[in-house]
Amino acid sequence: DAEPRVVLSARGLRRDFAGFVAVKNVDLDVHHAKIHALIGPNGAGKTTVFNLLTKFLAPSAGRIEFMGRDITSTPPAKVARMGLVRSFQISAIFPHLSVLDNVRVALQRPGGLGYQFWRSLGSLDLLTPRAEQLLETVGLQNERHRMAGDLSYGRKRVLEIATTLALDPKVLLLDEPMAGMGHEDVETVADIIRDVAKDRAVLMVEHNLKVVADLCDWITVLQRGEIIAAGDYATVSQDEQVKVAYMGT
Ligand code: ADP
Repeated sequence: DAEPRVVLSARGLRRDFAGFVAVKNVDLDVHHAKIHALIGPNGAGKTTVFNLLTKFLAPSAGRIEFMGRDITSTPPAKVARMGLVRSFQISAIFPHLSVLDNVRVALQRPGGLGYQFWRSLGSLDLLTPRAEQLLETVGLQNERHRMAGDLSYGRKRVLEIATTLALDPKVLLLDEPMAGMGHEDVETVADIIRDVAKDRAVLMVEHNLKVVADLCDWITVLQRGEIIAAGDYATVSQDEQVKVAYMGT
């Protein structure tokens, strides 16, 4: 196989908040068809890096490239249309729409596959086959006619992943996709992420090192805004600084 392809990269990322340095000197590369985790104790800067990469926050210094293009100054809606798509820690689904309609609505957003159809025909019906396919990908096909608000917490998070997949991301960024889930839902989400990562890159934020052990190809560990270790699980879990960071908080 050829060299793994870098689809998203950051160099020298830094973010200050009124004199407080939340993130500094962050370099990272996200590869096509790999699962990359950004982990660290509370306050380490994970959310800040996530927001910088998705352009929700402007960096104080540094550079971000997506698919070989400099996106350091590109607005978030535009990078989403380019295929850099994020989920939200707080669920962003419509509770009074059905599961199927949530995905169909996502498909007609700018960047969604069906946007042009919807614009020209004013109908969501053409989006149904693709929406059903996405629901199958995440295992929600049997719940497609339920009201989204009636799903369990874990299934809502899964539906939310389906709505982000509707934008056909090249890089999918997930903010603590397993947070607050029971064991069974964690396994389901892990399977979905593995499946999704077959033909796109995934970057996930997580605070628990063990959660990412089986799932992630590469782990970047942040502490107090800086990278203290990076590598596969075997490497970072043996790192002295990582051990101290995880015991000390
Ligand atoms: P994590 O996601 O790893 O828990 P964050 O990125 O949320 O960490 O926060 C990193 C540090 O930056 C924390 O000390 C936090 O208080 C600070 N911080 C984050 N966002 C802001 C903000 N908008 N204003 C001021 N300080 C912030």
